[in-house]
Amino acid sequence: MQPTTVDCRCGKVRLHLSEAPVAQFYCHCEDCRAVTGGAYAPLALFPAGGVTVSGGDTATSTYRTTPRTRCAHCGTLLFGEPPGMGVRGVSGFLLPAELFKPAFHIHCQRAVAPVKDGLPHFKDMPAAFGGCDEVIGW
Ligand SMILES: [Zn+2]
Ligand SMILES: [Zn+2]
Repeated sequence: MQPTTVDCRCGKVRLHLSEAPVAQFYCHCEDCRAVTGGAYAPLALFPAGGVTVSGGDTATSTYRTTPRTRCAHCGTLLFGEPPGMGVRGVSGFLLPAELFKPAFHIHCQRAVAPVKDGLPHFKDMPAAFGGCDEVIGW
């Protein structure tokens, strides 16, 4: 992947993405719903070292277990960093369409707004992420 930069909505904070994403998906968990105010969240996981921040101030807060970092000026959600995984989950809302290519949905058993598309809908998570690997049919 070519190194890419994405900005928060106000343009004060810039994310530098220097490595290819390791996974891209939509998450339907309560955490993502509570934090984003949406029915599900588009996420691209990058190696943590491949996501750096420059520019304005950021603010990091933890709702339950995952610290999430926002622009301190406009509040745009930039990324979450689930403890112990070595990844940063960048909000898919920030990524250009040619970069954000979600391959599946996770935590679908808790979804409030099922999405009928051609992607696999995992009940919790794929086996590669430590989940049961079961899919549900929407
Ligand atoms: Zn901002
Ligand atoms: Zn989630």
